[in-house]
Amino acid sequence: MILCSSLVSFADSFEAPAMEFSGETIQIYTPEDLFAMADNPSGIYELMNDIDLDDYDWKPFAFSGKFIGNNYRIMNVHISQYSDETRTVYDCNHKPYESHFVGFFGLLENAWVEQLVLLSTDFSVDCDDECIFAGGIAGYMYDSYVFGCSVFGRSYLSTGGKCFGIGGLAGYGGESTIFGCTADVTLTCIDEDLTYKDEQFMGGAYALGYIDLRSVTVDITGYDADHGYVHDGGLIGSYYKYNGDYGHGTVSNCSVKGSITFFEDNKNRRAYCSAYIGEVMNWSLSMDYNTESFTRNEIFDYTAELGPHWDCSNPQMEDSVTEAAYGVIGCTTHTCKTCGYSFSDNYELQRIPAESASIELEYSDGTLAGSEGAADIKASNESRKLYLGDSAKIHVSFEPYNASPMDVKLVSSNSDIISVSDYALAFAQGQPSTCDAELRILGSGPVTIKVLVDGEEKDAIIITAYSHADYIKDTYGIYILAGAVLAVVIVIVLIAIASGKKTRGKHAR
Ligand SMILES: [Zn+2]
Repeated sequence: MILCSSLVSFADSFEAPAMEFSGETIQIYTPEDLFAMADNPSGIYELMNDIDLDDYDWKPFAFSGKFIGNNYRIMNVHISQYSDETRTVYDCNHKPYESHFVGFFGLLENAWVEQLVLLSTDFSVDCDDECIFAGGIAGYMYDSYVFGCSVFGRSYLSTGGKCFGIGGLAGYGGESTIFGCTADVTLTCIDEDLTYKDEQFMGGAYALGYIDLRSVTVDITGYDADHGYVHDGGLIGSYYKYNGDYGHGTVSNCSVKGSITFFEDNKNRRAYCSAYIGEVMNWSLSMDYNTESFTRNEIFDYTAELGPHWDCSNPQMEDSVTEAAYGVIGCTTHTCKTCGYSFSDNYELQRIPAESASIELEYSDGTLAGSEGAADIKASNESRKLYLGDSAKIHVSFEPYNASPMDVKLVSSNSDIISVSDYALAFAQGQPSTCDAELRILGSGPVTIKVLVDGEEKDAIIITAYSHADYIKDTYGIYILAGAVLAVVIVIVLIAIASGKKTRGKHAR
């Protein structure tokens, strides 16, 4: 089991589910690498450094692979779109709806997500379809396992739909476990349809369903304006075992603090809102060792525009910038001068420029050839020629060791002879800054490989590629020579024998 023993011991005696994933682990360094997961959503991925998504609008997609976050941060995650994929979801009356989903992962099915940290999520989705669910890690979770993940941020959902909800970690789901996760979130859910008595769900961990929660920590500030039925909980909006096959559920070792401010504009009021679970539809769950410090804040002004500092007399935001420094994440903090409401965004890591870079060539047997002064690999490594069809690894390291170059490119002077795989290194804050790329020999002749760091050439290496004919000559040349010598010897011997016969013949006559 991949779960390490220290994680197991910090909570109850829970064992991670046995799940198998196949294929090689794909390493993720850049926003582009993250986006490419959508093209291969059942792969195994490992995050290799922090990634800033500030310049992107993230598109939620359905994921059924394994994601290993290594506690690196994905920062400034903006989402204004929902998944193309839909699934059937059920409200607490078991009425079905086709729902879209919003989350870093739109949907998780047979998926495993560990140690993913979302620092500053900013989800703002307006959807007028019938049904939509949003959550920080995933909008939808089924047969999936999420552990050691954290979400810090804000989500805003406005809709004229009939069944919808928003959660800190997940939206809707079942047959899944969330373990050892944290949500520090501000959630706002606005029902725009004043007449339809819709079903609305909000939870600091998840909105609706029967996902097990173990050792989950929630700090929620919720705002929920609804003209139907609200189901609000510090942990779970509504616990509903919509699929009868599932066994006994668990909500244990969780802590929740914060508040949900809401109104339920409905003559037939139920106004479910409580610290752990808004409404429990079927008590097929155990709740042990949970703690709460939660405020249920119901108001009765159905015209109020609920949201952060909605009741502020004079909203005036003032910004202060925390500069990034080595080991300090920078951010912009926005604070209301009147009421003190405050939030931070624009997180950034300090970048340390790479003063120099050096290239090494790594042969398939692991032997390195350095690039001191752009040395000629051919000259210094005559016995290790690279022939047509060969490949080798290019290894780039930077000075200082903790440099965080944003843009690293390896450029071949003749990519018809030697091609270099595309490579760009994103943040490597606090990590030894190295990167690897693969080169392939496609022809013969000398080629210069340059490393460009943030557009500047930092090192170059000359590599001579050899042809297939060179390979034959170098490998079999000695045999060819030996064969030629042998052939000459044989010919001489044959001539000698032949002339000997002639002589003997003469004598015999
Ligand atoms: Zn204010």
